Order: sequence, then structure tokens, then C-alpha cells
Amino acid sequence: MKFNYFIELAYLLASILFIFGLKGLSNPKTARNGMNMAAAGMLVAVVGTLFNAEIVSYELIIIGLIVGSLIGAAMSIWMPMTAMPQRTALSHAFGALAASLVGISEYYRYAVDLQEPISSFKMTALGFEVLFGSLTVTGSLLAFAKLQEMMRGTPITYKGQNVLNVSLFILAAVIFIYLIFDPTQSTLFYVMVGLSFLFGILLVLPIGAADMPVVMALMNSYAGLASAATGFAIGNNVLIIAGTLDGFSGFILSILMCKAMNRSITNVLFGAFGSPVEDTSTAVQGVMREVSAEDVAMQLAYARQVVFVPGYGMATAQAQHAVRELGESLEHRGVIVKYAIHPVAGRMPGHMNVLLAEANVPYSALYELEQINPEMGATDVCVVIGANDVVNPDARDNPTSPIAGMPIIEVDKSHSVIVLKRGKGKGFSGIENPLFFKQNTGMLYGDAKASLTKLSQAVLQS
Ligand code: NAP
Repeated sequence: MKFNYFIELAYLLASILFIFGLKGLSNPKTARNGMNMAAAGMLVAVVGTLFNAEIVSYELIIIGLIVGSLIGAAMSIWMPMTAMPQRTALSHAFGALAASLVGISEYYRYAVDLQEPISSFKMTALGFEVLFGSLTVTGSLLAFAKLQEMMRGTPITYKGQNVLNVSLFILAAVIFIYLIFDPTQSTLFYVMVGLSFLFGILLVLPIGAADMPVVMALMNSYAGLASAATGFAIGNNVLIIAGTLDGFSGFILSILMCKAMNRSITNVLFGAFGSPVEDTSTAVQGVMREVSAEDVAMQLAYARQVVFVPGYGMATAQAQHAVRELGESLEHRGVIVKYAIHPVAGRMPGHMNVLLAEANVPYSALYELEQINPEMGATDVCVVIGANDVVNPDARDNPTSPIAGMPIIEVDKSHSVIVLKRGKGKGFSGIENPLFFKQNTGMLYGDAKASLTKLSQAVLQS
């Protein structure tokens, strides 16, 4: 009894830490602190749970703790920042696997071991838990495989795919509802689990690798809901609170990402975006004008304001340190340097913020899309570093473009635009970018890191 109060108090404290942790994550300045608070909350919750009188084996828990900590530490230390999306996918898979296993064992314990009737409430919670949990396990593992390029990253589609997926889901849902009324049908329970595992794979197959961050935010949400359901099934308050926070924050994040891409969630899930598309780009006029590093360095060195616009290419080139060095040498010459951050630049939320923070670019130099666009007319040079879709003026000017309506960083309104890219490669959406053919745009070809290093040297000599 005495311990029960202690456990509930620990859960309350953990929940408060989770809420403040989440709040901290909403701003880059407080994010690190928020992360520490959430981790401390998890520690408090785990320690509290260890006082539970129903614990069967402390030895197994300690072994699990050691193995889990070793895997977690190894993943955090050795997985590079660029592999962060697939690392997150693996974490979701593990979390959801834990929820599904708890659900399956709880069902087994009641139905087979104890031979006790399962109440409708408990069956509803268990059903949600294994449905969401199992589909998240296989869905996240497939997302991992696609992002890690262990399999084809482009959408895998076939005729009748959406009909098959929806039918499978309906079948699993019908079994679930049946089980609420008759939980004794254990074969049906396991068929439902199997269908959910299969559904996770089929749901993610038609989604392209670049859309995976949205899928993962959604999977994060499912894993959270599965944990909340686990909390209801086994009567654990901290699981209900943490699962609900996780579930809804994941859902809100996926909606925000879709909004920033001007796409609907159904388009992401069922639209097979990333398949070859019909290019309805504005008829391209003009030619791409190649420029030399020396010419660009001259422009930069004598500019009043320069805005760097990083994109996915900066991440692949790992050019964040090189851009900071160039930025600093320009600032030493009195140039005002700003960094424009598009909400979906790169391949995961906050991708550019994380990389630039790693290179010690101060937060105060980062400007969001709404802040920087009004300044474009007063900007002498915009340097686009491996960004493409997020600066494509067709999104603003051409209603038939596949990315029409997506907010962009309006670099074309600045006096001069320099684009750093390797060649004529297209962006994530696979369409042409009229920006590259405009009169005020110069193309500096090459790997972004190499080009930035050349620019830094040339600026020093100018
Ligand atoms: P992008 O449209 O994918 O374009 C990246 C460009 O970088 C390519 O045109 C490529 O051209 C160039 N590049 C690649 N490697 C390079 C290197 N080593 N050095 C120099 N350039 C290099 O990227 P973005 O403008 O950042 O746009 C992001 C896209 O991803 C958007 O369409 C967004 O909707 C989508 N998306 C983002 C998220 C997210 O959370 N951030 C999630 C899902 C989808 P070359 O091949 O010619 O070099």
C-alpha cells in the first residue's frame, strides 16, 4: 500500500516532466533542456514501476535494462546525424513491439492461463493496443529499410492496392469488434494480430522514401496510442498520459508537415508521391548560366546582405561546417549573413536546424520562411545550398504544378541567386525548377561542401 502511493507519485512527477519536456521541444533554444526533462521523466517512471509488488523477476528486468541501454547507446553514438530518420523509425518499431507484446501476453494470460473472462473494456483496450502496435512494428521496419536503402525507396504500387489495403483494415476492424463481444475466440485474436502486421507492410509499400518522415510522425502517433491503450489494459496511469501525449503530438506533427508541403495526409498515404510524374512545370525559357567560384566570391564579398538557403543537398554533402565558415568570413568583412529555414527543407522536420546547430551557427541567425521572405527585395545575394523544391517559384506561380501552393523561400525576388548543386538533378518532387533558368540566377556546379570551401578561399583572397 505504502509503495502504491510512491508509485503513483512517481508517475505524477514523470507525467509533469513529460509535459514540460514536450513544451521545451517546441523551441530550438529550450529543446535540449526539454529532452533532458523528458528523459528524467522516463527514469522516474521506470524506477517507480520497479517498486510494483507484482513484478515477477528483477533479474530479467536488469538483463533487459542492460541490453536495451547498450543498444540505445550504440545507436546514439555511432549512427550519423544523416541517418537520424531511419534511427527514429527503428525506435518506433521497438516501442510498438513492446506495446504489442504486452497486449498479446495480457490476452494470453487472461484467456489461456487464468481462463478468466475478459471484460469488454479490457478487450477494447487490448484490441487497440495490438492493432496499432503491430501495424507500427512492420510499418516502421519497412520505413527503416527504405530509408537505409536496403530496398527500393520509390513507391511500390500495383493495381487494386488501395482497395486491398482498405479491405484488409476493415477485416481486422470487424474481427476486433467481434472480439469485444466474444473475447474467448483466441484464434480470431491471433488472426487479427497477423492482419495488423501485414497491414503495416502494405500501408508503407506505396509510400516513397522521401515521404517517410510524415509516415514516421504518423507511426509515432500510432505507437503512442498503442501505449495509451496498454495503460488502459493494465491500469497504468503514466502509460495513458505519456501515450496520449505521444499519440497526439505525433499526429499534430504529421499534419504540420503536410501543411508545409501543401499536401493532404491521404495524398501522402495513398498518393504514391515520388513515382515518375508528368512534368507540368512552366515552359522553361532561357539557359542555365554557369558561374565560377571566383565570380561568386567577389559578389559575396562586396554584398550588404547575403542569405543562405540550405536544403537536402547540404545534408548529403555534410556541408554545414563549410557554410558556417563562409558565413563567418563574410561577417568579418561586414556583410550581414542570414540563414533561411524552410519547414520541410531536407528530409525530416528540423533537419536544417539540427545540422546548422551542430556546426554552431547561432539560432539568432536562423530565419523562418515568413520572416525572411519580406527581406528578399533587400537581399543582394541568395546562396541556395542543395535546395530545390523549397525555392521553386512554380509552387507560387503555376497552379498546375504538382507542388502548387507549397510555400517557398522566394529567393527569385533577391538581386542575385547562386545555386550550389552537382548537376541537373531534380528535387524530391521530380520536377523542373524554372529558378535555375532565370536571368538573375547563376549555377555553381559541384558538391556543396567542395563549392563552399572554394568560395571561402576565394573570399579570403578577394
Ligand atoms: P530537394 O528538392 O530534394 O533538392 C535537393 C537538391 O540537392 C537536388 O536538386 C540535388 O541536385 C541537390 N544535391 C544533392 N546532393 C548534393 C550535394 N552533395 N551537393 C550539392 N547539391 C546536392 O531538397 P529541398 O529543397 O530541401 O526540398 C525538400 C523536399 O523534401 C521537399 O519537396 C519536401 O516536401 C520533401 N520532404 C521533406 C520532408 C521534411 O520533413 N523535411 C519530409 C518529406 C518530404 P543535384 O543532384 O543536381 O546535385
